[in-house]
Amino acid sequence: MKIGLRIDVDTFRGTKIGVPGLCRLFARHDITGTFYFSVGPDNMGRHLWRLLKPAFLWKMLRTDAAGLYGPEIILMGTCWPGPQIGRRLGYAIKAAADAGHEIGLHAWDHHQLQACIEKMSAQEIFETFKKGCNLLTQITGRAPVSSAMPGWRCTDPVLLEKSKLPFIYNSDCRGDFIFRPLVSGKPLDQVQVPVTLPTYDEVLGRNGVTDANYNDYMLSLLRPGKLNVLTVHAEAEGGKCMEMFDDYIARAKQAGWEFVTLGSLVAETPEIPLGRIVQKAFPGREGWLACQEPV
Ligand SMILES: [Zn+2]
Repeated sequence: MKIGLRIDVDTFRGTKIGVPGLCRLFARHDITGTFYFSVGPDNMGRHLWRLLKPAFLWKMLRTDAAGLYGPEIILMGTCWPGPQIGRRLGYAIKAAADAGHEIGLHAWDHHQLQACIEKMSAQEIFETFKKGCNLLTQITGRAPVSSAMPGWRCTDPVLLEKSKLPFIYNSDCRGDFIFRPLVSGKPLDQVQVPVTLPTYDEVLGRNGVTDANYNDYMLSLLRPGKLNVLTVHAEAEGGKCMEMFDDYIARAKQAGWEFVTLGSLVAETPEIPLGRIVQKAFPGREGWLACQEPV
């Protein structure tokens, strides 16, 4: 019984404070996971302002965004260029790699990729991945083995551009089992490891889920004998939710679950079926998400 553990790192603060905190937590539990880093400018404040819609405001209130991301998130990248995460905090990324965690690319500019992906040309998409790959390689001494689109905003053109880079597998969608994506009828080499479990901000405040019963709820969603992939955020589980996450890990381990990298799940999957990525609305999220569709 295994849980693929994926840690998304979206911001400067998440890299600086959340990542070292999570590395200490994982060392204490003797577990490893796959970190996805954002390495270019932190423009996530711009992201929040852009999404000032009633539904989004409600979500911010529901999940206490300023509490999760810190008050400066609101201003980050709004009036001045956001700080370069990889250049200033490379040591935190390197330390995660040196601690035995798997390192993947989340984005060069998380905000830009999440908000503008549909308007970007193939060349622009390739360039932004390439910049991220180069900097991560410089920081850790080896190319990132995987990548994960911010906000699960993945499309077929994105998959095609990724296939030109040295990723072994990617984690860009929600779904049920590891699959090989088909684009225009052609199977790609880079397989997909879909996320099977919801994130903290998707479920909190919905259907009676609170911090008090969050772990019970998340543990109830685990499926023995099937693929289980959990995404946590350096900004949430590496910040104000850390104590709760610590308890989740302890309880899952007690129930016989083992936390592993996504790469190790790929390595132990002998037969990988084909699938497709489609864009769909998703509970608890704005706009569309990439979802797995069996063929
Ligand atoms: Zn993200």
